[in-house]
Formats: sequence, C-alpha cells, structure tokens
Amino acid sequence: MQNSVMKAWWDSSHMAGGNAAYVEELYEAYLDNPQNVPDTWKSIFDELPTIDGVSVETKHSSIREDFKKMAALGPAARAGNSSAVQADAPSDERQVKVLQLINAYRFRGHQHANLDPLGLWQQARVRDLELSHHNLSDSDFETMFNLGSYAVDAEKMKLGDLFKSLNRTYCGSIGSEYMHITDTEQKRWLQQRIESVEAKPLIDRDEKIKILKGLIAADGMEKYLGSKFTGAKRFSLEGGDSLIPMLKGLITEAGANGAKEVVMGMAHRGRLNVLVNVLGKNPSVLFDEFAGKHDDSLGAGDVKYHAGYSSDFATPGGNVHLALAFNPSHLEIVNPVVMGSVRARLQRRGCKDGSAVLPVTIHGDSAIAGQGVVQETFNMSQTRGFSVGGTVRIVINNQVGFTTSKTEDTRSTQYCTDIAKMVQAPIFHVNADDPEAVMFVTKLALDYRNKFKKDVVIDLVCYRRHGHNEADEPNATQPLMYQKIKKHPVPRQVYAEQLLAEGSIAQHEVDKLMSEYRAALDHGACVVEEWRPMTEHSVDWTPYLKHDWTVDYDASLSKETLVELGKSITTVPESHRLQSRVNKLYNDRKAMISGERLLDWGMAENLAYAAILNENTHIRITGQDSGRGTFFHRHAVLHGQDGGEEYMPLQHIKDKQGNIEIYDSVLSEEAVMAFEYGYATAEPATLTIWEAQFGDFANGAQVVFDQFLSSGEAKWGRLCGLTVLLPHGYEGQGPEHSSARLERFLQACADHNWQVCVPSTPAQVYNMLRRQAVRPMRKPLIVMSPKSLLRHPLAVSSLDELAQGVFHNVIDEVDDMEPKKIKRVVMCAGKVYYDLLEQRRKNEQDDVAIIRIEQLYPFPEQEMAAIVANYKHVKDWVWCQEEPQNQGAWYCSQHHFWQSVPAGAKLTYAGRNASASPAVGYVSVHNQQQKALIEDALTIK
Ligand code: AMP
Repeated sequence: MQNSVMKAWWDSSHMAGGNAAYVEELYEAYLDNPQNVPDTWKSIFDELPTIDGVSVETKHSSIREDFKKMAALGPAARAGNSSAVQADAPSDERQVKVLQLINAYRFRGHQHANLDPLGLWQQARVRDLELSHHNLSDSDFETMFNLGSYAVDAEKMKLGDLFKSLNRTYCGSIGSEYMHITDTEQKRWLQQRIESVEAKPLIDRDEKIKILKGLIAADGMEKYLGSKFTGAKRFSLEGGDSLIPMLKGLITEAGANGAKEVVMGMAHRGRLNVLVNVLGKNPSVLFDEFAGKHDDSLGAGDVKYHAGYSSDFATPGGNVHLALAFNPSHLEIVNPVVMGSVRARLQRRGCKDGSAVLPVTIHGDSAIAGQGVVQETFNMSQTRGFSVGGTVRIVINNQVGFTTSKTEDTRSTQYCTDIAKMVQAPIFHVNADDPEAVMFVTKLALDYRNKFKKDVVIDLVCYRRHGHNEADEPNATQPLMYQKIKKHPVPRQVYAEQLLAEGSIAQHEVDKLMSEYRAALDHGACVVEEWRPMTEHSVDWTPYLKHDWTVDYDASLSKETLVELGKSITTVPESHRLQSRVNKLYNDRKAMISGERLLDWGMAENLAYAAILNENTHIRITGQDSGRGTFFHRHAVLHGQDGGEEYMPLQHIKDKQGNIEIYDSVLSEEAVMAFEYGYATAEPATLTIWEAQFGDFANGAQVVFDQFLSSGEAKWGRLCGLTVLLPHGYEGQGPEHSSARLERFLQACADHNWQVCVPSTPAQVYNMLRRQAVRPMRKPLIVMSPKSLLRHPLAVSSLDELAQGVFHNVIDEVDDMEPKKIKRVVMCAGKVYYDLLEQRRKNEQDDVAIIRIEQLYPFPEQEMAAIVANYKHVKDWVWCQEEPQNQGAWYCSQHHFWQSVPAGAKLTYAGRNASASPAVGYVSVHNQQQKALIEDALTIK
C-alpha cells in the first residue's frame, strides 16, 4: 500500500476510533524498535510528533503501562498482542481489513445480536459488520489471516471461520458493549473472557438442571399465585423468569469468591418471586399476606411487594447473608440505599476492597433510563466517600415502562442502559430466553466487578406476560406485543425443550421437577435448598430495640477530659502549615480550651465529635462542604498550605479511638441522603450525619425524607439513627437560602418517628450530638442548624455546660427577671431568640419572658410544663417565628403550644405574613419584616 493511501486510511474515522488499539500495539513495537514494524507503518510513525495531542514521550509511557498490564493478563492476551506485532498486516491491505472487521464486531456486534425473545426489535443494518464494507468477500473465506488480539486459541484463522466465530461471539444471545472502556487492561480482560469461549461456556448437566429448576420455580410460583389469588396484584416476574436462576447463580458464585453478604435492591416486578425463590421466604407466610393476615408488631406495615427480607444462603465458600432492602414505590431510589448499606457492612468487616459484601441492584428498563438518581449513583460509585467496590446492576428489561412501550416515548438513548457508559461500565445485553447465556454474563459480570471494583450492567432483555399488574389489560395499549406474548412459550418451556432436544434431560424428569416444586408450595415449606437460618449478618440490633424517650443514658464527661480532648483536636503538626484564617481560628480554639474565651459553635461541635470518638464510637459525616463547614466554622479537615495534604485532628485523639470519616459529598442530595439512610439503617454503632449546604437543598432529597426517613420504622420496623444538619435562619439571603422548610419536617411528625431540634447554643449542639450517639435509641434527628449563630457573640457556652452532658429540650428565660412582673411570655425556636433577647435588653423591658423550645418534636410536654409553671399567672402568650405564617412551626406545632399555655391564656402569632415564597429577595424588605415581627412579639398591647 502506498503511503498516501495509508495516510488517508489513518485519517479515516474508523481508524481514529475502532483500530486505535491495533495501531497502538504496532506503535508500541515501533517505539521499542522501529525495525519491528513494516516500512509503510514506520514512515507514518516517523512523521508523527504527537498522537492525540499527547507527546510521543508521554504516549510512549502510557502505552508501556498498558503493555505491562496486558503482560500480566496471561499468555492468551499476550499472544493477541504479539501476534498483532508480528503480523505483516499493513503490507497486506486485506489483513488490515480483517483486523478492522474484528474491531467492528467488538464495537457494534451487539446491534446484530439476537436479544429480544419476542423478536420485535427492529435491527438496524450495520454495514461495519458486513464483509463488503471492509473490501472482503466470501471468496476470501479460505485465506488464513492473522487474528491480532482476537482472543481465541489460535494466531491465524481462515476468514470463513473467523467470520462465523465473530458472529457467534458478538451476535448471539449476548450483546457485549465494552469498547467504550479506555483502560486497555480491562478491555483485553473482557475480550479474553468473551472471545476465548465465543461467549458460550461449557455448562455441565448439573448446572443445566439447576437452571431449569430455577425457571420451574419462577414460573411455578407465579402460576400458583395466579390461580390461588386471581386478580390480586403481584407484579409477576413472568417473562423475566431467568432472573431467578441468575440471582441464585450470582449469589453462589459470590460466596465461592469470598463474599459474606449480598445486599439487594429491587422494585416491585418479580419481588415476590425473589423473596420466595431466592431468599427463602416461607411461601405460607406470603400466602397469609395475600389472604390479608399481617404481623401487628410492624405498626403501619406496607404492601407485600415492598417487603424486605433477610436470610442466609449456602454456597461453596460458606453461608452468605442475604438482605433484600425494603423499597417504596419510587423505583430507583433504593439503589443508593443499598450502596450505603453495603458500605457500612464493608467497613464493619474491615474490608476495604469490596470483596466481602456484594451490592446487587435490580432496575426497570424505563426507570434506569428515566430517573436521575441512577446517574447520581453511577457518579458516586468510584468516589472516596461512597464507593463500594462496584455494584452488579441488573435491568429487568421487559420493554414496557408502566404502559409505555414506544422507545421514542421512554428515552433518547439507544439502549436503556446507556447511562452506565458515564463510568465506562461494561454492559451485557442478554436474551432472557437463553438462560445459559444469562448465566455466562452473570459470572462474567461478577468476576469483572471483583477484579476491577467497578460497576457492571446486565440488561436482561425479556418481556412482561401480563399488564403492569395482574388487574391491568395490556392489550389496550400494546396489542401487537401482547399478541406475540400470548403465543410465546414460557421460559421454562423454552429451556426444557432445549434440554430435551440435546438429551440432557428426559420429559418425565422435567415433569417430576415441576410436580415437586408444586408440592413444596402446597406444603408451604421453604423452596430454596440453599436457605439457611440467619447467623451470618454482622450486627446485632437488639441493644437498640424497644426504647422509650425516657431511656437512661449518661453523656456527662469531666471538664478535665474535655480539656484534654480540646487540646488534642487543636494540635496540628508543625509541618502542616495552616491557611491564615484557619490558623487564627485554631488559636481561638486553643484559647477556648485554656479558659480565656467561651466556646463557639464550631469548637463545641468538634468537641462533641472528639468525645464520641473517645468512647470508641465511629462517626461518618458527609455533605456539602462538610470538612470545612459551608460557613467556615467546622474546619475538621485541614488542608496543608504547602502540599495540599489533608490532616484531621479528630483522627488523632488517642491510640484506640473510634474512626471518623468526613467527606465533602458529590453534588447530589437525593442519592447521598439515600446512601446515608442505607448506611445508618445498617450500622447502629456509628453516628452518621448528612449536612446540607443550605437547608433548602434537602428539597432535592424529598423522596428520602418521605419514603424512608420519616416512615421507614412505621412501615418496615427498620430503625435509623441518621442525623441531618440543615442550615436554617432568616438572614436576608433570599427565598432559597433562608428556610430548611421546618414545616415539612413537622408535618411528617407522628408515632414518635423522628426528632426535630433547633439548638440555639454551642452547648446545646454539643449535647444534642452526644445524646444522639450515647442514647441507645436509633431515631432520625432533623436539625435546623444555624448560619449567623455560628459567630454570634451571644451564642457561646462554657466548658461546664458541655460537661453536664444534658440536652435541654426547652430553655427557660436566662435573664434575671422577676416572674411576678412578667405580663407576656414569648415562645420561639432558633436564631430569632437572639433578636428578641437583644431588642428586649435594648428596650430594658422586664415584663416579657422568652422561652426557647429546642426540640419541637417529640414535643417536650413535661419539661415545658415545669417551665410554664413559673408563669401560671400570665395570660398573654405569643409564638414568635421568622418564617411566614404558613411555614415554620406555627401551624404544625400550634396544638402543642395551646396544650402548654395555662388554662384561659390567649396564644397569638408574631411573625411574617403567609407567603408563597419562603423569604423575600430584598434585604431592605427582609430587615423591615424582621424588625416588625420582633416589635410585635415584644409589644404588649
Ligand atoms: P440485615 O443484615 O439487614 O439482613 O438484617 C438482619 C436482621 O437485623 C434483620 O432481620 C432485622 O431483624 C435486624 N435489623 C437489620 N436492620 C435493622 C434496623 N435498621 N432496625 C432494626 N432491626 C434491624
């Protein structure tokens, strides 16, 4: 080939993309010794000062790195590489074209794969997969060609054989997408695994019978429910039956590879089937639930297709604990919950590489493409604070989202799984009617996850035999699809026929397996052979169960200990040079410890963490700027000004202390909050905190507050001690950064589901955090945390106040006032207290007392009654708040205020008028409003 031709070819798009790996291999050989490659290539490389804008030197070293990685992969991969180098391909244009053909199949073979069991997918014509596109034809079929890196057990092959092999490998029941991965080692590893067996491993008879049994169970279960509870909603798995042998195979392999726990999350579809046929839930319990019986101990309860479950499962590597997370109707939201739960379990087991606990998330095809939380979890998957060593993600792709089956209505991507490409996850589309192919990709996906610690996706292409639920009529909206489905044999039948045809099983054996399964259901006995009673889960929740708010706890600490702790958390190695403002702040903190100054918010909060760690309790804090503190108050993570390295004084309290991790989180609220919920529900012994930059950012996590945090215990009996810090306060920052929407949290209060606190002093925040960690109760704690109070001269506390270890749910008047002179009592919460106090002092008023309610829920009736007793004679009571009247505590907590005030007293409101917006945007208007509401609260008419 002439140089000019080569150059044109080099510049062509195919060359720039598809054959880059091959050219890189040649280039590597050239860099080692230019004589290694044919002259035509040499002259091209000679002319290349840079590749892709990267200098030869840099490219050289990166290629060398890739080369080393490949060398570590084993002989086959090496063979692929070296054979490419040895090939005299460029001197033979057809040889190059053959290598292009291989690459084309690797890139686009999935577009011609046989993925849809119903055969409804319209396959686009992919010219790259045609011989003619590469100037080849069947007249070349007998010619031997070098295979480059094509990872079969041969260096050369006839084109005819290669063409068949490529079609078997890339266009059978599996569509592999992995060429978007830039890391050569991963790509080569996948090629080796896929190509060396032409995507079809040998499966022995035992394995085949296991698969068939799984399909019989999947089908048998649905048929049983369908006939016994006709028309009842069960969100049948039918069509996606392969999921059952797939999950069992996945768990078995995971256990064999050393996993001790598998945590799964899934939405409704197929859930009952998974509960019974994988987790070993007793079918009779499920049948009772269908019949309307329920466990009263679970409070409000939930529908059966949201239920979680836990059990152990026998594998060749020992028993594996299985946990299926409870899940509300918000489909994809469970994914970050599962990841958080896995992270907690991994840390408890001291496992840093993810090998001990496997997360498995099961998605719907429309939901994975449609819901943003999926993207958030992919983005989190490799970050320091949220990684879990990779998640195996399975899509039950039944080609219908609720009732929408038209692709143009459900997504803008080619596949529903395209989002996974953002983290370069490999994606295996697989025809669910070929369960052996399903098992192949399952094992491949697991091995990939275990080796590369990354997410991997299996797109289980199936169908949905019934409507959205069993009462739904799918023909109304999907007539063509359902005509096809009606005639389509069930997966059990498809596979049984395959096994019968190949002689792996006889009909009477199939019949026997089916009747055995049916008999087991009739007996209501567990149908999972591998089921074992639960012994493997790694935490005991008993110490945290059944406590009342009055439960005794001791969070006091001697002042000496506090001083010691204070010294250790203000000591920074000399070599770690601090930024000047941070340095000043640390000097101020030292003065607080030596007694020269009172403690501010940041110091008290850090001391709380130190005291908790000192007692060997772990702490996890994530959030938006949480290392530094959004408002520059925390500085728990110190950034050295010379090297930029991080130093966390809280990690250096003493030799044996609790672990603390603080991560500035990815910029997400929904997934991060859900992750922390998952973490806290799996780890009662860690103080888990999520912090919003501004409280209103929590709006982005509304689903998590509503569906999990506020109601999880009532619905599912799952306790959660998550603490949520939401900066709140009206300081003129406008509609978006004033309100954490206190009213929303108060409105969701019932059944003692969570605590809503508004601490107003450093001692209070210290004692609130201490209480949350030390008290054996695990209830979510929602905190309206401050902004301007972080530096307010009056918001200071003494070490003695901290040492007492008591959080005051209500704080009485602090000035020395004669109760008899009091004509009005103003109740309030949070920052407005200081505005009231300052104005009253300025007014020199002695007839208005101010009470702070620091815990709005559960409402502290007794403490309140004890304080109100001092003002029994007062008839004029006011609730003062900064929030507009329709927001804040006024409407949601008013009944508590009424109950508290003395009989016959009046209760009035002082605050902003009702407003659609949380706050005004103009500072001048804000100031006027603030002045007016303070005046209103203090003026006795
Ligand atoms: P798991 O490890 O999630 O499968 O949980 C094992 C067992 O621990 C469950 O069956 C429950 O009895 C208990 N458990 C797990 N999480 C919680 C929780 N958040 N609150 C109360 N009990 C729990």
